[in-house]
Amino acid sequence: MKLDEKGLLIVLSGPSGVGKGTVREALFKMEGHDLVYSVSMTTRSPRDGEVNGREYYFVTRDEFIDNINNGKMLEYTEFCGNFYGTPLDEVNKLINEGKEVLLEIEVNGAMQVKEKMKDAIFIFIAPPSFDALKNRLIRRGTETNKSIDDRILKAEREIGLAINYDYIVVNDEVKNAADKILAIIRAEHAKTKRTIEKYNELLEIKK
Ligand code: 5GP
Repeated sequence: MKLDEKGLLIVLSGPSGVGKGTVREALFKMEGHDLVYSVSMTTRSPRDGEVNGREYYFVTRDEFIDNINNGKMLEYTEFCGNFYGTPLDEVNKLINEGKEVLLEIEVNGAMQVKEKMKDAIFIFIAPPSFDALKNRLIRRGTETNKSIDDRILKAEREIGLAINYDYIVVNDEVKNAADKILAIIRAEHAKTKRTIEKYNELLEIKK
């Protein structure tokens, strides 16, 4: 009998440019997990190569606002002029199916999830240094100068929010960071609060 049969909600967050997306991709390529990615909704335009329903659900501002008003978002935020958010129904469905559901979101949204989902696991991806973060944002080349400046300003504020998370994982090297996250997920499955119910059942069977 498996002790933990419920799904997990894992929130991967941290400042823009810290490499959350890259760490997430590395994580999904690794063996030994049952992770599913919760695709977010956004009003920003697709970048080259991005596909609707894979990287994001790309919607209009009106559609996004309708979703907010109809209570369909677990969390959302306005980030550098665009809305980003997590569709609620999909997340609940996946957790109930026993999946390890991974959200990769910015810090404001992560704090909203913390208010609503008490069992979720919060992992802050931190840069090895602030300079490393700035260089990444500039090198990435996907943003205009104005957007880079906005993102750097935001990142400066966000770096201090790590205290609100269960774990801090430094993205010094992508593989290293992904390894640590996998170890965290494994350990979380064994936490007493997640296993005690099944454990008690098991004891009664043996009595
Ligand atoms: P980008 O435009 O680079 O794809 O994403 C900008 C920021 O929005 C990133 O920090 C990314 O993690 C965050 N983000 C993506 N999806 C969501 C979401 O559903 N909710 C929130 N709060 N942030 C998101």
